[in-house]
Amino acid sequence: MWLAGATYDRPVSVTPIRLFGDPVLTTPAAPVTDFDAELRRLVSDLTETMHAAGGAGLAAPQIGVGLRVFTWFVDGEVGHLVNPDVTPVGEETEDGPEGCLSIPGYRWDCRRHLHVVASGWNMHGDPARVEGSELLARAIQHETDHLDGVLFVDRLDPQARAEALTALTEAEWAGVPAYLPVPEPVVKVSPH
Ligand code: ZN
Repeated sequence: MWLAGATYDRPVSVTPIRLFGDPVLTTPAAPVTDFDAELRRLVSDLTETMHAAGGAGLAAPQIGVGLRVFTWFVDGEVGHLVNPDVTPVGEETEDGPEGCLSIPGYRWDCRRHLHVVASGWNMHGDPARVEGSELLARAIQHETDHLDGVLFVDRLDPQARAEALTALTEAEWAGVPAYLPVPEPVVKVSPH
């Protein structure tokens, strides 16, 4: 029997990642208003998908969900933030190599703040705050950009951006809407 408004359990799953060119990636995401089971499932899906793809971060629009949520996995620490508000700490910036799971196979140097603090909420609706430097700071800025519909290629200087966009027209995945990440097999080396 079907009940109006009933929700059915859906297992957490690795979810297809949208590729550069999908309009969801250039559309600002909406704030989360309901801290419910669906949000917790979204955080789990993001975390699973990020791990399967070997990523340092993943934002909800990258799996086709226009909500302000992202996850990260940096230096062995997994985290997530809902409705984040990011503030640079100090003036220091750093040019460093950056990539994006929605632009696989490409890396370009991108200038980011070296230290940031991000405040927001966890999936249970409790206030959450994370301070990050270097790679974590870069991941937080990159993922927050996704929530504003901004891709890291848009942060490159005009000439580098133009070259990047030209290169992307020849990506082997150009025109493909999404891909399902498959974890790298773990290669066991015999001790002899
Ligand atoms: Zn990205």
